[in-house]
Amino acid sequence: MTKREASISAQRELFIFIGPPGSGKGTLADACVKNLNWKQLSTGNLCRQHIAEQTEIGKHIDFAIKSGKLVSDSLVVAMVHDWFSRYLAIHNTVILDGFPRTVPQAQELSSLLEKNFSNARLKIMQLEISDEGVIQRLCSRYLCENKECQAVYSTASGSMLAPKVGMICDICQTRLVRRKDDEEATVRERLSGYYKHEKALLDFYRERGEAIQSLSVEKPLEDVFKDFKRLAGFEKR
Ligand SMILES: [Zn+2]
Repeated sequence: MTKREASISAQRELFIFIGPPGSGKGTLADACVKNLNWKQLSTGNLCRQHIAEQTEIGKHIDFAIKSGKLVSDSLVVAMVHDWFSRYLAIHNTVILDGFPRTVPQAQELSSLLEKNFSNARLKIMQLEISDEGVIQRLCSRYLCENKECQAVYSTASGSMLAPKVGMICDICQTRLVRRKDDEEATVRERLSGYYKHEKALLDFYRERGEAIQSLSVEKPLEDVFKDFKRLAGFEKR
């Protein structure tokens, strides 16, 4: 056994956060990366990286995008497979961001793990928040209009993300705007579309007998993060 194979045989944990837009998946993932030294695997970033580096996979992705098609599940899985082969040896705990999004992707991920990475175990966490909670969050979310900056602010009462002066970015003094996607009617539509996918994904994992942990995210991040660490079994490590 080579040194690389030896280290990859140690137990690995792959976290999947399942939750609607506005549930704070990104914020929670950032907290894990900063405070627990976990690695985040973003399939969106990985796509861009493969295209920029003109890899075989990147060329296929680029072709799909230029032909106005969606990037196929098999390409996404090929990308994830490649990443696991390179990096699962160095990272104990990885958060999967933007993947698996669909049941076919979840199926492919499970068979990939069974065949090639049997030391990796899925940890599925469902982020729970009411529709009203999502609407309140997203409708009070503002972005810096400056494309280079894009800092995120919130006008929700008591939020730590409130801009210091009026509706102007603290960092670059550009105007703050709300995304079209974040208007109430649009948010409600996005939510109902989202829950159909979520249910299918959760049903898939339940049928496989995977444990799904629930995390209430309708509270300040600090408290969410404490609950998260306890659920994930990281409190005393
Ligand atoms: Zn700005």
